[in-house]
Amino acid sequence: MKIAVASGKGGTGKSTFSVALALANRDRARLVDCDVEEPNAHLFLRGGESTSTPVWASVPEVDASLCDACGKCTSFCQYNALALAGSAGLMVFPELCHDCGGCILVCPNKALSERKVLRGTIESRVIDGTLELVTGRLEVGSPSAPTVIRAAIENPPALRRRVTIFDAPPGTACSFASCVHQADHCVLVTDPTPFGLHDLDLAIEAIQGMSKPFSVVINRSNGDDDLASRHCRRRGIPVLMRIPERREIAECYSNGGSLLDADPSMGERLRALLDDLHFHVSGGPIL
Ligand code: SF4
Ligand code: SF4
Repeated sequence: MKIAVASGKGGTGKSTFSVALALANRDRARLVDCDVEEPNAHLFLRGGESTSTPVWASVPEVDASLCDACGKCTSFCQYNALALAGSAGLMVFPELCHDCGGCILVCPNKALSERKVLRGTIESRVIDGTLELVTGRLEVGSPSAPTVIRAAIENPPALRRRVTIFDAPPGTACSFASCVHQADHCVLVTDPTPFGLHDLDLAIEAIQGMSKPFSVVINRSNGDDDLASRHCRRRGIPVLMRIPERREIAECYSNGGSLLDADPSMGERLRALLDDLHFHVSGGPIL
């Protein structure tokens, strides 16, 4: 089973929840940090030897002696990564290229070939021999977050685990979609503020567009009558868990601790939560 933990905006506690869920279920779940522009799960999960794998992409390179400026490739490219510039001939903008390879195929003169460029890296670690963390990291300035997210998700597992948790990129742009699209269920983390609810609704709209089942976790909750709880009740959205607004949780977080460090009793609740999700998604227990 694959679960994406997402949020309509940053700062809701998405990574805090992902890390705690993985820690509480370390014997049966692995964590993939798909927030490739700003991965931070590793700040809470330290230790273990890291292996690093580069993520390459292929961008087109033009052989000007074969190009007759027919324009077939520029018409094909949906991302404006190619332009014909008069006497300068065909120009390639690798930072706009989404590595689809289509222009190379449509060129009638075989004037385009592949050039490898580095898009990011995948780091993999096993912490204390039990919890696997995979971190996708985008190269600075690279446009290809989905490429790196895909590589992180497809990175061969080091441990056999029945559940993979994706810490998804915040927001509702294409990197969010490329991660959530690969999950069986999406858990949306929100907070009980008007901004939180506004972005929660945007994320729900995006997820419904992908026909993905989803549920909500409310962080910094003041109980089952807070703004987010009432909002979810009104809309019939299932709330899996409320993480209370407590000073010791905030202090622990600011010192690099996890939810479980702040409140060890949270471990049992997070194990039960994963059991419930697995039952809901697969119709049976995690074996
Ligand atoms: S590989 Fe695809 S995205 Fe990149 S320049 Fe060619 S057509 Fe455009
Ligand atoms: S399709 Fe080929 S020949 Fe035509 S403009 Fe592009 S690179 Fe040049």
